[in-house]
Amino acid sequence: MTNEQTAQEAGRAPEQPVHTIITGATVLSRTTRPAPNYTALPRTDVAARGTATFLDDHAIGIRGNTIAWVKPSVEVTLAERDAATTLIDGRGHVAIPGLMNSHTHSPMTMFRGSAEDVPTSEWFNAHIWPMEVNLTERDVTLGAQLAVGEMLLAGVTSFADHYFSTDRIAEVVASSGARALLASTFFSSQGEEGIERSAEFAERWNGAADGRITTAMGPHATYTVNDADLEKTAEHARRLGVRTHIHASESPSQTRSSLDRLGVTPIQVLHDTGILETGAIIAHGAGIIEDDLRWLRPWADRVAVASCSKVYLKHAQSGGTPVKTLHDAGITVGVGTDGPASHNTLDVLESVRFLSMVQKNVHSDATWLTSQHALDLATRQSAHAFGLGDSLGALLPGYTADIVLIDTLVPHMQPMHDLAAALVLSVKSSDVRTVLVDGSVVVSGGRLTTIDVASVADELQRRVPALRDTSHGRSIQDYAP
Ligand SMILES: [Zn+2]
Repeated sequence: MTNEQTAQEAGRAPEQPVHTIITGATVLSRTTRPAPNYTALPRTDVAARGTATFLDDHAIGIRGNTIAWVKPSVEVTLAERDAATTLIDGRGHVAIPGLMNSHTHSPMTMFRGSAEDVPTSEWFNAHIWPMEVNLTERDVTLGAQLAVGEMLLAGVTSFADHYFSTDRIAEVVASSGARALLASTFFSSQGEEGIERSAEFAERWNGAADGRITTAMGPHATYTVNDADLEKTAEHARRLGVRTHIHASESPSQTRSSLDRLGVTPIQVLHDTGILETGAIIAHGAGIIEDDLRWLRPWADRVAVASCSKVYLKHAQSGGTPVKTLHDAGITVGVGTDGPASHNTLDVLESVRFLSMVQKNVHSDATWLTSQHALDLATRQSAHAFGLGDSLGALLPGYTADIVLIDTLVPHMQPMHDLAAALVLSVKSSDVRTVLVDGSVVVSGGRLTTIDVASVADELQRRVPALRDTSHGRSIQDYAP
């Protein structure tokens, strides 16, 4: 008697078969968050520094969009193999949860390399914001296609995006098979229209593409959106049951300027306007001070700070996100790239490596931010930042099947002493061979199955002269934090 017959006789719907099986891989099943202040604990307390559980020669079975089981490869039965439509040989590979980019502006691939070797204010006022006047909807589609292609190839299955013409980005996410948390950016200078568009987008697209798209409200920053509009944002977020994604406390000087002008820090502004209560991704938070913890701590279950270390190094902002202060206070830190116009790539493995090394350097402490901790930031904590910690960020039965297979039999990862360290310090994103999102293969043998990036890049290259023409003398906004 088959399972189907048994289920039918019992009056239940037949269980879907396991359609995809990955065998022979080393599986990073889950990480744990390290203890607070772990560098002060005895070095023998290894678990306190965070754990990454790797299971050698294991198999993963996928039913629908969900991980049905993770078990030793030898326990996969012939019947299970026969019933599966896709068998993936994972030998020589490590399977990790899909990487999550906690803060980006994906269509800005179109401005990659267009504003280099300049400080932040010049980056905005002399280059990016005047160029963004030239944007067409088609540019956003092309920019997003290139971005999603780049991310999927690098094992980045989800991204928290913040940009304009978000309908175009959502369409690209839907057709490419990727996953995203999308927010439509607005400034108070746009009046009611901006915030209403952001709310309307959040309502219309939340849960779309079989749930691969979730949404957030997208106020640009605490210095470009006034308090009254932030209060309205929180009302919309509460009504829609979505979070808010916002730039805040981006640098120590921004915090000082806010204290001088308003007497409060940007984080207190987020608290007082109700944004933290509704749940938030705070982009950068490099100006967060000890005193801000009293605003963040009560909402630690729903607030995260996205850190994009390469951008801070590049724009000569020393320090970056105070990851240790946040970690010790129990606040989630996600890993982000920021837009590719400042980060130059959308490569989360690169971003994790910068974060790990910047943190060791800032604290002059090689024992701080272990590779296990870095992996926890890139997987479980980033999933928590998206509000999806119960379904993503681990390879466990019942979790959604966003899975990345990385080839470890490459010279720069051999011989293997420490797989966690290899994944943070040795890996190249080009080692990613296979990527599944929601149980479906989107990268196979290192090639995209859903996007033709060559034709996209070609069309975008032809748009470059028009995008760079700022002779109109206009700008979408003035940067004066
Ligand atoms: Zn940003």
